[in-house]
Amino acid sequence: MEIDEIYKIYCENGDQDLIKYIENIVNEKSMNGQWDRGIEGQSENLTTILLYEYATSIEKLTNGIITSKQVVDKLSNQMGKLRFGDFKDKNDDNVCYDKNSVTSDEYKKKCRIEKHFGAHAPQYTDENGKTRCAIVLFDNKQEFNGMTLSGIDLSDLTDIRHTIFHEWTHVMEMQTVKASELSMDDILYRDGESVYINTTAGVDWSMEEFEDYISSVSDLVQGDKEISFSGISTIEINKKKNPNRRIMHNQIDEGATEFIARKVMSIVDDTAKSPDRYKGQVKIIEKIFSSLGLDKSVATYFSAPQKLLRILERKRIGGVDFLHYISDVVNCSGKGIDLQQFFRDIDIICGELESDKPLEEVTTGDVVKNALSHDIIERARSSERLAEEDYR
Ligand SMILES: [Zn+2]
Repeated sequence: MEIDEIYKIYCENGDQDLIKYIENIVNEKSMNGQWDRGIEGQSENLTTILLYEYATSIEKLTNGIITSKQVVDKLSNQMGKLRFGDFKDKNDDNVCYDKNSVTSDEYKKKCRIEKHFGAHAPQYTDENGKTRCAIVLFDNKQEFNGMTLSGIDLSDLTDIRHTIFHEWTHVMEMQTVKASELSMDDILYRDGESVYINTTAGVDWSMEEFEDYISSVSDLVQGDKEISFSGISTIEINKKKNPNRRIMHNQIDEGATEFIARKVMSIVDDTAKSPDRYKGQVKIIEKIFSSLGLDKSVATYFSAPQKLLRILERKRIGGVDFLHYISDVVNCSGKGIDLQQFFRDIDIICGELESDKPLEEVTTGDVVKNALSHDIIERARSSERLAEEDYR
């Protein structure tokens, strides 16, 4: 179906106030040059319908614990750039990944020839010093020096939807909390010789900088600084296991992101086929989220992921905490593991989670108090600032 036909159907049969609300934001962001309204030379309604679909699906998935409007607010607050095709010269020069600007040739070589990215969501600091996400869906028909660049099929709406729902879930999982509102266990978790950092702050730091960070974390908890979480990703430091490197545990988080993207996809278009990627990770997350309650798990993942981290870290299995037990397996693709036993172990722990009901108390009030309100307040403040500034 054509984009404009879908748009018409939503305008006639959908939530018209929500569509207007989204359109106002899309207009403002596209006028500032921050967001694309759609694919160049095609319908101008693509961003609007995708946002409408994603937001209403999250409201359904969380049984209203998170409302559509809250989803739109959080995305518009945290997503500094939205591009279909490629990043834009001049406009996006300030977005960097691995120290290269996303508009540079080095970035193209690294990410679209060597790493085959179909889409990307790098974080960057905007002109107001705020951490933002830049979302791009690359066009797989572009070339560079005679070589085809990686991307997705931008003529296929299913491909666009699935990819953007996954990337937006990455934006939704980003959470910034005042350090003083957290306990040490929320930020740092020790297990044997490993120290796990439950924040992705400092992913570019050296080993020395990390050691400074650990020793200063107790000051941090009392201070005014903010700590950011990326869903259930953690960073492990274990000098014996790996003397020179931090071990990033983000594969299990990819499973959670992809699982939610597939759920959204099935609400939007139940005939679309799911791709095969992250199959094992998705299966594990499906078990965990179902035992904790799907609506509450998704709401918590988007508003207080540190709660989920602690729930999973407190469970023990085979001498390790549950989160890193599964993470170790998915990070090395289950090499040398008895997978049948592995999934039996997961079922046992999930059974315990189900009877413990650790997310019983999650309500709309909690979610708003916790995190989404923070973003909404931020957004209100930044639109006040925008109004004061002179835009020409
Ligand atoms: Zn991802």
